[in-house]
Amino acid sequence: LDVVRSVEPRIADAIAQELTDQRESLKLIASENYASPAVLLAMGNWLSDKYAEGTVGRRFYAGCQNVDIVESVAAEHAKALFGAPYAYVQPHSGIDANLVAYWAILADRVEVPYLQKFEKRQINDLTDAEWAELRQAFGNQRLLGMSLDAGGHLTHGFRPNISGKMFDQRSYGVDPATGQIDYKALLESAKEFKPAVIVGGYSAYPRKVNFAKMREIADEVGATFMVDMAHFAGLVAGGVFTGDYNPIPHAHIVTTTTHKSLRGPRGGAVLCQPELASQVDRGCPMVLGGPLPHVMAAKAIAFAEARRPEFSTYAQQIVTNSQALAEGLLKRGVQLVSGGTDNHLVLLDVHPFGITGRQAEQALLDSGIVTNRNAIPNDPNGAWYTSGIRVGTPALTSRGLGVAEMDSIAGLIHTVLAATTPAEGSKAKFDLDPAIAERVSKQATELLAPFP
Ligand code: PLP
Repeated sequence: LDVVRSVEPRIADAIAQELTDQRESLKLIASENYASPAVLLAMGNWLSDKYAEGTVGRRFYAGCQNVDIVESVAAEHAKALFGAPYAYVQPHSGIDANLVAYWAILADRVEVPYLQKFEKRQINDLTDAEWAELRQAFGNQRLLGMSLDAGGHLTHGFRPNISGKMFDQRSYGVDPATGQIDYKALLESAKEFKPAVIVGGYSAYPRKVNFAKMREIADEVGATFMVDMAHFAGLVAGGVFTGDYNPIPHAHIVTTTTHKSLRGPRGGAVLCQPELASQVDRGCPMVLGGPLPHVMAAKAIAFAEARRPEFSTYAQQIVTNSQALAEGLLKRGVQLVSGGTDNHLVLLDVHPFGITGRQAEQALLDSGIVTNRNAIPNDPNGAWYTSGIRVGTPALTSRGLGVAEMDSIAGLIHTVLAATTPAEGSKAKFDLDPAIAERVSKQATELLAPFP
């Protein structure tokens, strides 16, 4: 840090403060983790200086011999880890991985024409009619993905994201009675809508998904089955999700991030069946900017770490902890979407406390508990204020916290939520006795002290 400080002390201070904050607060954001020193060091070095557009052995730049080693070792570990026929490790993030996959699926299905008319246009300036013209050029392909309020991701076909503009989109949700995917309704919707792509996977769904069943549905309507396992890749890698619940043998194409439950560097990857590999390989420069060799090096380290037996123990413990957290909340009367969890996350319905997700999120943060607000199925408060709080156990499990600590954390969360009251007429402002926030914050730090 002294080297960084000699150039810009504010950056050195922010880095140091980030370490302190991550050490002292309860990191319950379901998509975050603590990468190992080996991952961090593989990422912070001279590989960062190298340009390497193209793929292994076929680069647009000279001198890529070391990057070739890095990329092929990362792909080799990814294939072995997940049992996938093909791995593409260049995507810079999960969203980029999804874009590569969508482009590969489209290009595999239709001859995408070059439309000169759009050549000089800014994509954000296109009118709805022009987007419709573009979609028509792509053969009006349709995408069926999980709805945002049921736990889907923006890239699964929503309007503010390009996926909602490339495709005609429809969503599937959850059964209101169980909070779980209704596969019969999904089949009916697929038969009626006839999508080219069905997307499985989620950001905020607390249950496991039957990917074998989803593949049957995709086959019945002739759709390509894509799974975005960004959130639960660590549970697949660690052998928690097997058989029908492991997406790899069932999907045509699987995308992931590498930094969530998988515990690697920030980044993405695509795994696919051999018939899609050549289209996926065109990801850079079709969709992506030049690969980040230092991040691919860190991905290789993370994949190699996840192949070790201790990673399976870790992945099992993530779910054990998540279920202990859910039980601790349920026994204190907190309402959970779907009534529990099968994976790394728990979705609290904070509506019964008379507050919004936004108020709950800030009240918890003021008390040293870092979570995020999240929509719940049919959320009356919409996607901004929401009625839910999403909590996840990958990060705290990395630090070694176990079932007993999860029960204590459930108690702290309940204490804060029960003490929070909405400010008159506001969905964002609230009242929380500062003494309670301070006490909980201190208890959180004490809880974490044995797990540095
Ligand atoms: N896919 C899913 C299911 C996600 O939950 C997320 C991130 O939250 C992403 C993709 C995007 O990942 P990134 O932020 O790396 O682009």
